[in-house]
Amino acid sequence: MKKILLATPTMHGKERQYIQEAFETNQVAPLGSNVDAFEDKVAAYVGASSAAALSSGTAALHLSVLLAGVKENDIVFVPSLTFAASVNPIRYEKAIPVLIDSERDTWNMDGAALKKAFEKYPHPKAVMAVHLYGTSAHMDEICAICKEHNVPLIEDAAESLGTTYKGKMTGTFGDYGIYSFNGNKIITTSGGGILVAKRDEDVEKARFLSRQARDPARHYQHSTIGYNYRMSNIVAGIGCGQMGYLKDHIEKKRKIYQIYKEAFSDIKEIEMNPLNKDGADNNWLSCMTISSDSNVTPAQVMDALEAENIETRPIWKPMHLQPVFEKYDFIQVEDGMSVSEDIFNRGLCLPSDIKNTKEDMERIIKIVRNQFRQQ
Ligand SMILES: *Cc1c(COP(=O)(O)O)cnc(C)c1O
Repeated sequence: MKKILLATPTMHGKERQYIQEAFETNQVAPLGSNVDAFEDKVAAYVGASSAAALSSGTAALHLSVLLAGVKENDIVFVPSLTFAASVNPIRYEKAIPVLIDSERDTWNMDGAALKKAFEKYPHPKAVMAVHLYGTSAHMDEICAICKEHNVPLIEDAAESLGTTYKGKMTGTFGDYGIYSFNGNKIITTSGGGILVAKRDEDVEKARFLSRQARDPARHYQHSTIGYNYRMSNIVAGIGCGQMGYLKDHIEKKRKIYQIYKEAFSDIKEIEMNPLNKDGADNNWLSCMTISSDSNVTPAQVMDALEAENIETRPIWKPMHLQPVFEKYDFIQVEDGMSVSEDIFNRGLCLPSDIKNTKEDMERIIKIVRNQFRQQ
């Protein structure tokens, strides 16, 4: 039985031309024309004036945290429902994450919970917003709260390249924004990230820090701790090729979501992940939740699909439930089961690989539907 995958790289051939050129000109290094071109392409696409290509989205987040001036024991607000890579860079600097619950509306950071966090901790050093599964957070509200408190905003747009909110690209609302090009993301470089910023000098600073913080002197001189976070010119070549297909990838991801939504529309127990009504989603991953009164569990659906060689994934397990982060404060609007935990308990990610065929989709849908028919 053919294996159906969740989300894997989709290459088009164009990527090889850029790599070929890098080999032919011996630009096999963490700098070169592909790096410059990739930075320009991404910046132009998202509407930023510059961008710094880095070794990973996590590295880009770490530099964002540094640029925001986050130091030991500073507080940073970050959503609980995200991937650990959002929170880890806060801890690299020995700062203190305060985990914020989600809203049902978008599954992203709840503005009401964020306000509540500001009441308890009036002086955080930064706020990090995440656009989960490609769906934009409510940026008007989050930006207004950050502005009111004069706190820098970092946007983890690792999953949401190409998603807009009120016509503007996610990742460009904050003081700092990052995208990931990990193998499973909407486009990939095999691994990599990029940082954009409201101020060009911050992008310049990120580039400086990513290149071992070498002062502009002839001899090797350093007055700051640096990092080796540059993107290689080979990797950037893959990115240059992929950028030409980003639009195509997004269209296909949107179609996948629509097919699932349509196919499950008559099953009351199934709800697809909510999209931001003020945005246009890249639909990176299609997810579903099962209503709490159903006898069907996400584990049961995942087991049934896995038995047929179909790959699924649970929803990100909230950070306030992680052994490594559970000691940090968690802010929710109402007592009782948090929204993030509820989504985690009732949800799963469906195969969203753009190479999956119509027949693959039918196979997946039939198995999911069968679980609910048996009740
Ligand atoms: C993938 C991802 C990251 C990390 O990106 P890498 O390029 O894998 O380091 C960060 N945050 C979120 C929400 C992600 O999904």
